Amino acid sequence: MSATVFYGSPRQARLEASESLPAKLDLILDRLHLRERVKGEWVCLKLHVGNNIGYSTIHPVFVRKVVSAIKEGGGEPFIVDVDWDVAGSESRGYTREVLGCPVYPSAGLHERYHYDHEWQYKNMKAWKVAGMVEDASFLVNFAHVKGHPMCGFGAAFKNIALGCMVGETRSQIHDTSHFDRYWFKERCPDRSLMQQIVDSCPFGAVVFDKKDPEELHLHFESCNQCMRCQQVAPPGSLLIQPENFHTFMEAAAISTAITLSTFEQGKTTHLALATHMTPMCDCFGFTSMPILQDAGIFGSDDIVALDKAVLDKTTDLPLILENIPSSLEPQPHDGHPFAQLHGRFKDPYVLLHYAEKLGLGSQDYQLVDVLPLDDLSPRTKGFYISAQ
Ligand code: SF4
Repeated sequence: MSATVFYGSPRQARLEASESLPAKLDLILDRLHLRERVKGEWVCLKLHVGNNIGYSTIHPVFVRKVVSAIKEGGGEPFIVDVDWDVAGSESRGYTREVLGCPVYPSAGLHERYHYDHEWQYKNMKAWKVAGMVEDASFLVNFAHVKGHPMCGFGAAFKNIALGCMVGETRSQIHDTSHFDRYWFKERCPDRSLMQQIVDSCPFGAVVFDKKDPEELHLHFESCNQCMRCQQVAPPGSLLIQPENFHTFMEAAAISTAITLSTFEQGKTTHLALATHMTPMCDCFGFTSMPILQDAGIFGSDDIVALDKAVLDKTTDLPLILENIPSSLEPQPHDGHPFAQLHGRFKDPYVLLHYAEKLGLGSQDYQLVDVLPLDDLSPRTKGFYISAQ
C-alpha cells in the first residue's frame, strides 16, 4: 500500500496569508491529525536549530505553529537539538518565549545523557541515542531541506540519523566511509607520486594521513568524484568508488531505524520545509545563497515517503549556478541536482533504498496537495476582459 505525503506548494494564486507556507503547515498538521494524537504525550520536537549566524533553518513562525498544535492537543512539547547547536540558539530566535516551549540539548550538558543500542555495522557497534529523545513518548521530526557533503542532501533522515545521536556516534557514522580500504600504498610506494596525487585534487580532499604521514587519507565530504586524481594515481592505488561513499547513507538509515524503534507504532511523524536550500548542512554556522528554488512543505508519518517526495519535487529543478560558492564544482549529469553538486556517488536516493530495505517505510507514495492552486480563483470571478 502506498504511503501518503501531504504537501503545500510554495506558490500562491493570490496575495493572501492563507495561501502561504505557514498556513499550509496548519493544513498539513490537520491532515496528520497531530492534535488528536498527542494527548498526554511527552512530545519531542526535533529541529536543527543551526549554528552561529545561520538564518536558513526553520523560522520560528513554523515552529511555534507545531508547538501550539501539540499544546492544543494536550501534549507536552519540548524542542531538542545537539548541545553545540542549542548553545547560543537564542541568538537565532530559538527561545521558550518565542517558540512556546523549552529548547533542550538532546543528550544533556556535554552529551553525557544517552541510551546505548547495539548494531554491528562496519566500525560501529554501540549507537548512543540522545536521552531526551528516547525519553519522549512521541516524536515530531521537523527538518529543513538542504544539501549535505556526505549524502548529497539533508532532510527528515538526516535530522534523526545524526541529530538524535551523541557526538561520538555522529563521528563514527562519518568514519564508516573509511572502513573499507580505498588506499593501497603498495601500488604507489613512491613518495613524490603520492605528493602528485595530493596536489591533483583542487578541493583538498586527498591529504597525507595525520596519524601516519606515510599513508593517504580521503576526506569524503570534500570529494565530488571529479576523478582528476585518477589521472595521476597508479591503477588501483586510490579507489574512488561508490561503496565507500554509500556507507554513510546505510549508517544513516540504521541510525534512524534505531531511534525510531524507541517509539511505539504511530507515535512518530515527519515534516520537511524545502525553502532556502543551501549547498551544505545547517551546522556549518552560516547561510549561503539558495541553490534551488523553494519547493514547499511536506508532512507524512512515513519517513521514507516523505524524503522521497522531497527529492522527487526537487529533482527537475535546475541548480542556480550563480548562487553556488566558487569553491564548489558541480558535475553535470542527469541525476538529482544535489548529486550534481556533491558528486554522483552521493546520489540522495541511495539512502532511501537502504531505509526501505530496513522496513522504515515505502518509496511508493501518494502526494496530496493540501491547497491546490487550481482550486483557487486565479484572478477575478465573472467574465473575462483581456488586458490591452
Ligand atoms: S575524485 Fe576529484 S575531488 Fe575526489 S579526491 Fe580525486 S581529485 Fe579530489
